[in-house]
Amino acid sequence: MSEPHAAQSSALNDFMDGLVRRNPGQDEFHQAVHEVACDLLPFIAEHEKYRDAMLLERMTEPDRIVSFRVCWTDDDNCVQVNRGWRVQFNNAIGPYKGGLRFDPEVTESVLKFLGFEQCFKNALTGLPIGGAKGGANFDPKQHSDTEIMRFCQALMNTLVHYVGPNQDIPAGDIGVGQREIGYLFGQYRSLTREFVGALTGKGVSFGGSELRTEATGFGVLYFVKDMAERLDRDLDGARVAISGAGNVACHAARKAIELGAKVVTLSDSKGMMHGRDGLDAEQLATAQRMKGEHRCSIEQVADELGWRYHEGAKPWGVECDIALPCATQNELDGDDAKRLLDNGCWLVAEGANMPCTAEAVEAFQQDDAMSYAPGKAANAGGVAVSGLERAQNAQHLVWTRDRVDEELQRIMREIHDRCVRHGGNGDGRPVNYRKGANIAGFEKLADAMLAQGVL
Ligand code: NDP
Repeated sequence: MSEPHAAQSSALNDFMDGLVRRNPGQDEFHQAVHEVACDLLPFIAEHEKYRDAMLLERMTEPDRIVSFRVCWTDDDNCVQVNRGWRVQFNNAIGPYKGGLRFDPEVTESVLKFLGFEQCFKNALTGLPIGGAKGGANFDPKQHSDTEIMRFCQALMNTLVHYVGPNQDIPAGDIGVGQREIGYLFGQYRSLTREFVGALTGKGVSFGGSELRTEATGFGVLYFVKDMAERLDRDLDGARVAISGAGNVACHAARKAIELGAKVVTLSDSKGMMHGRDGLDAEQLATAQRMKGEHRCSIEQVADELGWRYHEGAKPWGVECDIALPCATQNELDGDDAKRLLDNGCWLVAEGANMPCTAEAVEAFQQDDAMSYAPGKAANAGGVAVSGLERAQNAQHLVWTRDRVDEELQRIMREIHDRCVRHGGNGDGRPVNYRKGANIAGFEKLADAMLAQGVL
């Protein structure tokens, strides 16, 4: 190992040892920080203004974490108790912003990794929004609509003390869609007697933005289009493997079909469906309706559409040109990455947050035939349109769908350009989008923190 590499790896080990000691057992958080530190420690060492300011140490310590009891009564009048969290990570460039996740498996570690990534993602959008994340160990899939409403109201009874249009503006994430945001917003409005943009992802009839629901998935495809153009490749006819069948997956699939690609898989937590000819728009609408409105499984969707269903399987073993993991963290591991590369896949863009394990990312980055984009860049379209929703609320205006779509495309192109600026390799190798995203996000956040003093 050469001298600079030895020094860098020792700095990384020291930094990570400290982080693990301060945050024991939080594997997802360690993983997200490690990925960022690999790119940033050498960058910080090369730039005098960032050295000695302990910026990465400060950025990895959340401003605060609120954890609280959520009590509500179910349809049988029994008392239920859940735990809610809000992790307010960093508000140096704008009020805290990030989704709420309702998932029985959610932990503080998961919310910390998501909140940390959100700081970089939000900085990358160019909008004035800081980073946060929150949620609860609650499973909406197991509850009736009235139970979900009562749960959301109970959660907001406490969350109301920490959120607001200039303080912290939550949005949706896994298990939190427009229905949940509606109930949360209603309770916020009732408690505060104010109609303000304290949440985004609202229904369009009460302050929501056009295209917010579609924005993350559409944004992924706008980003993929720019990546493909840089590679001189065409999306027309490209086979796209997508995981998940929720908000991000279905809207990524819809835009992929619009751009002429063939969507050959969708999945859920139980299995995946595969069809070589690809979904058409009507079949996708059926899948979306069955999953969303009727809570069907992908197995039932496959049955309805006459597609092949593979119990317990992930989409990464099928032949494809492009892979878009859009379900959840660590759903694509080193073996999956190898399978994708062996099958000729040439582009991976993360629709979900941290869906690829560290081994998978390493495998993609080692292969010059592969272009890989991390979630903090590729899936930033959702928070970007949330930022636009906030702007519309503050102006008391409603923008047209076309205007929001134009803005979304512009923001995704600018994120792509920022990644290329900081992650481009002059040597003909693929752009290192991970490094580009980490450095571009860091610069914006670090400059704001330096300018505001030691806090
Ligand atoms: P949804 O709740 O709408 O959908 C999640 C989908 O992932 C469901 O189809 C679910 O299947 C599937 N899934 C969950 N766990 C697993 C698993 N272990 N293996 C395979 N599939 C699984 O969530 P979203 O689409 O909103 O979010 C998906 C990802 O995108 C998350 O990582 C989220 O953080 C990220 N994201 C979301 C944004 C947004 O605007 N919504 C913005 C940016 C990122 P099942 O029904 O069986 O549970």
